[in-house]
Amino acid sequence: MKISNLFQQKKVVYSFEIFPPKVNDDISKIYDTLTQLKDIRPDYISITYSAGGSKNSRTAELAKIVKDNYGIEPLAHLTCINSTKQEVGKALQDLVDIGVENVLALRGDRIEGQVRSDFAYASELVKYIKSVRDMDVAGACYPEGHPESANIVEDIRHMKIKVDNGVSHLNSQLFFDNDDYLKYLDMVRLAGIDVPIQAGIMPLVKASQLNGIVKMTGAKLPSKISRMYNKFADDPDSLMEAGIAYATDQIVDLLSSGVDGIHLYIMNNAYVARRITQNVQPLIDKLNGAR
Ligand code: FAD
Repeated sequence: MKISNLFQQKKVVYSFEIFPPKVNDDISKIYDTLTQLKDIRPDYISITYSAGGSKNSRTAELAKIVKDNYGIEPLAHLTCINSTKQEVGKALQDLVDIGVENVLALRGDRIEGQVRSDFAYASELVKYIKSVRDMDVAGACYPEGHPESANIVEDIRHMKIKVDNGVSHLNSQLFFDNDDYLKYLDMVRLAGIDVPIQAGIMPLVKASQLNGIVKMTGAKLPSKISRMYNKFADDPDSLMEAGIAYATDQIVDLLSSGVDGIHLYIMNNAYVARRITQNVQPLIDKLNGAR
């Protein structure tokens, strides 16, 4: 199913992001996570590609498993900055061969010393995919601005090009301050970008996340998050509970504000996904008219 159909059927689309096991690891390592995620019934699962720039991504392999073995719609990520057009074409063909209908078109992070590819920006990848395949193409957006852009207005102008080239929905970078996100949505809508946008929420449940992925994205840390971290960083059980509560509170507020969807960065942690979903699913069902 194309994800654009989900946005037509539902007021709120609810999804998770996972990453594939490493190339030398057994792919079955992720089966237990997928079995638990299947019970939670997300609308779709997105699968990262080549994080860190490796071309040995197992995205297609995992997308097939998610679709065929677990009956969940996959959204396959695809980056372009470190690949030739031929490599991108081959990656797309692999996805088409296994029946994937949805791709998240990304530029990817520049790797020092890597030869420049045929694509400079995600907008060019979007245009290419739409010209050769009948697929839904999603894009990334950045509520605090992409780190490389001079300012948020310039970043939104660039995003408009990407959307005009054929993006049917956007998934946001993680953020912790809903007021900033809601202001960003206003700016995006004023710029004439009308496609659905899912809010990207990463539950901060492990101390290592703050110095790892959160630092990498440059996300602003509200004082509430800093206090939570300072108090519980050395107490894993309490940080887990506090992180789940913070993410739940964030989602409830976003649902109250009428967002199009929630995309949870679960870091392959099905326990966190289940706990948060138990908290917010009744509200999402109500908004979608399911109960
Ligand atoms: P673009 O949309 O191309 O934007 C990149 C920068 O270029 C921005 O600063 C933008 O303002 C600027 N720009 C765009 N168009 C123009 C133009 N015409 N002229 C001048 N400047 C322009 N990375 C991975 O490696 N694998 C993944 O699976 C992955 N998944 C992600 C999922 C989400 C939801 C998000 C938010 C990010 C993900 N990333 C992933 C990270 C992403 O690859 C990086 O953030 C990357 O630096 C930018 O990718 P993009 O597609 O947003 O790029």
